Amino acid sequence: MKVLIADDDPVALLYLHCALEEGGYDVVTASDGKSACDILLGTDAPKLAILDWMMPQMDGVDVCRRVRQTVRDRYIYLIMLTSKSETRFTVEAMDSGADDFISKPYGMDELQARLRTGSRISVLEQELRLKATHDSLTGLYNRGAIVDILKNAMSRRARKAYPLSIILADLDHFKRTNDTYGHQAGDEVLREVTRRAANVLRPYDSFGRYGGEEFLIVLPECDACTAFAVAERVRLVIAGKPVLTNFGPIPSSLSLGVAGAEGETSLQFDNFIEHADKALYQAKNSGRNRVVLAVGAVALPH
Ligand code: GH3
Ligand code: MG
Ligand code: MG
Repeated sequence: MKVLIADDDPVALLYLHCALEEGGYDVVTASDGKSACDILLGTDAPKLAILDWMMPQMDGVDVCRRVRQTVRDRYIYLIMLTSKSETRFTVEAMDSGADDFISKPYGMDELQARLRTGSRISVLEQELRLKATHDSLTGLYNRGAIVDILKNAMSRRARKAYPLSIILADLDHFKRTNDTYGHQAGDEVLREVTRRAANVLRPYDSFGRYGGEEFLIVLPECDACTAFAVAERVRLVIAGKPVLTNFGPIPSSLSLGVAGAEGETSLQFDNFIEHADKALYQAKNSGRNRVVLAVGAVALPH
């Protein structure tokens, strides 16, 4: 597990670095509060941090406050390290967002034990977060999570005015699949269809289960024409060959509705979804196994 240690005393930093590396941790270091903060707020940040209280620029308490105010999409377990041993300091550290508090001088056994506790909580938190945001059958984002992702992408788009597209996809005659082959076979189809579709998406696209057999794909920085091409790729990879299940091969297809927003348009979430939904409805009505692009998308001038 990755752990950040932040201390302005190079000797203390080196000592901790060596001890934790020996303990099997992947160690990242910072010699002041500001760099510690940058690391914790950055991408691929450690989920465990040991922060010295007294540091130049930003002290450990400031780092705790900043992390708790800013980081919402993961939990970072923060351990404060200090020679201040009075209870009021412990209270101040905890109130600023620290999870644990170690007074100097400390024994390495104690620190390792506290880190193990932090790791346990961190792993548990990640499992819970994964469960709360992902669909257990397909492993995709669940409805709540993909809606949040779209809303965030829409507010970023409002600031930066980059193109943003969505695809709503729905399995064709899926009730018939269940009726003919059974619900378990239907589940296998759902898993394989989403696996294949995920393989043809870009790494920065987000793919979620919007309803039972309906999916929402969010494509940031992607105009409607490109999204149409992506949707067509998804369609082909599903319709191209039947899904091989334990109940035999099952031919499957998707109907897809695409909506895009570009330039100086302000977007309403409900409008955006409705546009894609209308296009999906057209795809269904014009024979299924096809992609329809919503015309005149969501353009409400500022
Ligand atoms: P259409 O082409 O118009 O979309 O027809 P459809 O049969 O796919 O649509 P309908 O809404 O009538 O049926 C959807 C079916 O999807 C019914 C429901 O039981 C099934 N379904 C939803 N979630 C799951 C699931 O998790 N597993 C399985 N096996 N079936 C599911
Ligand atoms: Mg359907
Ligand atoms: Mg449906």
